[in-house]
Amino acid sequence: MARYREALCRLCRREGQKLFLKGDRCYTDKCAFERRKYPPGQHGTARTKISDYGLQLREKQKVKRIYGVLERQFRKYFKEAQKKKGVTGELLLQFLERRLDNVVYRLGFAVNRRQARQLVNHGHILVNGRRVDIPSYRVKEGDVIEVKEESRKIPFIDENLSKVEHRGVPEWLELNAEAYRGKVLSLPTREQIPLDVKEHLIVELYSK
Ligand code: SF4
Repeated sequence: MARYREALCRLCRREGQKLFLKGDRCYTDKCAFERRKYPPGQHGTARTKISDYGLQLREKQKVKRIYGVLERQFRKYFKEAQKKKGVTGELLLQFLERRLDNVVYRLGFAVNRRQARQLVNHGHILVNGRRVDIPSYRVKEGDVIEVKEESRKIPFIDENLSKVEHRGVPEWLELNAEAYRGKVLSLPTREQIPLDVKEHLIVELYSK
């Protein structure tokens, strides 16, 4: 699993935006970013002018951190997006959004992507009736994603599902919470990916 050793809330403060890395806490006033909206560290409150390169770099780091993907894998997604017909930045986000761990999170089985990745890694998730324990597995239109029957008694899954309405399930997915099942209705369009990022800056960074 891609791991960052830094405290998660520091990452949000560094990126100047809520990345929703923790789960419930992110939606409360205990959120560290709500309390301290400036970068961490001694010079966090100092005003600094950021270069174009700095802006591009921050945007890339932000997306990597949101999805919990390390540099090598992120670059692989970018190269693949570049080769495909279409808007590179949008394709990059679509590839990330179609990761199985992200889908498990979006459907509300997990409270954040880390927990979702753990559910997948531990074999609790089925895709079209077959166990898939690869978090980077890319879902496709029509795929059915469900929690394995024996795993449905994991207490936090019910708890997470009871709160999913608050977060909302994206339009490209359909959730049947009673059946612990979700379906990929279509591939996500940029408008259906709820991320406040400027992906064109990432394209500019890698195109240098
Ligand atoms: Fe980020 Fe706030 Fe969640 Fe911490 S609690 S991970 S600062 S959104």
